[in-house]
Amino acid sequence: MIDIELAERVKNLPPYLFAAIDKMKQEAISKGVDLIDLSIGDPDLPTPAHIVESLRQAALKPEHHRYPSYEGMLSYRESISHWYKRRFNVNLDPKAEVLSLIGSKEGIGHIPLAFVNPQDVVLVPSPGYPVYPVATLFAGGQPFFMPLIEENSYLPDLKKISADILKRTKLMFINYPNNPTSAIASKDFFKEVVAFAEKHNVIVCHDAAYSEIYFDEEKPCSFLEVDGAKEVGIEFHSLSKTYNMTGWRIGFAVGNKEVIAGLGKIKTNLDSGIFQAIQEAGITALNTQDHILLEIRNIYQKRRDILYEGLKKLGLSVNKPKASFYLWAKVPSGFDSSNFVSYLLQNAAVLGTPGVGFGAAGEGYIRFALTQSVERISEAVERIGKVL
Ligand SMILES: *Cc1c(COP(=O)(O)O)cnc(C)c1O
Repeated sequence: MIDIELAERVKNLPPYLFAAIDKMKQEAISKGVDLIDLSIGDPDLPTPAHIVESLRQAALKPEHHRYPSYEGMLSYRESISHWYKRRFNVNLDPKAEVLSLIGSKEGIGHIPLAFVNPQDVVLVPSPGYPVYPVATLFAGGQPFFMPLIEENSYLPDLKKISADILKRTKLMFINYPNNPTSAIASKDFFKEVVAFAEKHNVIVCHDAAYSEIYFDEEKPCSFLEVDGAKEVGIEFHSLSKTYNMTGWRIGFAVGNKEVIAGLGKIKTNLDSGIFQAIQEAGITALNTQDHILLEIRNIYQKRRDILYEGLKKLGLSVNKPKASFYLWAKVPSGFDSSNFVSYLLQNAAVLGTPGVGFGAAGEGYIRFALTQSVERISEAVERIGKVL
């Protein structure tokens, strides 16, 4: 017998705040409750057929059966560079400024290992994607939470960060369109971030996973559209949300050469890239005709309208999302985010995600995902109406 003891970095992980909710959900399912699960950040729609077909063809080719290159096939990186030019009018050198990722989560999880020393500070949005603070902790760094609050349109107030913290800050994460608040950022905000990064010598990591899930034909911008952005940072991107490809594990990082090279160095030592047949399908995805993406956006937009209008009528205070597939709503008075989620689960069999699970500044909110059909979402609104 040996003592099997977890490393400190694992023991010190922040508590998993969804554990109690997960348990209630499992109990409800095992009792046969007809649960409407609006907690899932994973598209319910299938990957478009032409992308699946492209994988099928590519999988037959023996040349794709060997180790891929760690930085990604040049043809995949070129198609990313073309896509950025088309979509954002941003020029990227596919050889130096583009790196393939096994999903953007992989790159986000690894980037602090390349740049953060123990005790360095990493600025992290709260509420936010939990991988930012956890990756920071794994690298020995200290997350400093930037609250995203409604009064500031869910943008961090960079002027509020003390000189003391800024002296130790190495890197920052931002994410627009934002999960969980669904907020978008303007070019002016990105300009402010570039000036801030230059002044305080901070590497900017912008997570743009939801840039293609937008409504009312208002396209979100890329961080790299702003002058000077490429001198201070990179953008993470993913095919997961845009093309309903979460299970495929394919994404990329683009931008500053040195930051890309640093991340690449970590990856060469840890992984061996993405299956080339999936990269071939990724090229096909990035060349998808606009009408297919428009159809997907229209589906989310219908769902958004029903959920937004429905919850508003019930008297909940909700933001109308301009992008992402989430709705961020204030919980009614008398509840906090966790007990409102359990109240809805137990009384209406509707599951949302408690805002506090994304960080302390998410307390008082609930996140609903638009990853269910219009019929189920309408029924969810009806059920919530009966118990409020
Ligand atoms: C879904 C999501 C991602 C994308 O993850 P992949 O690893 O590319 O599937 C990244 N950031 C945020 C905020 C997300 O919600």
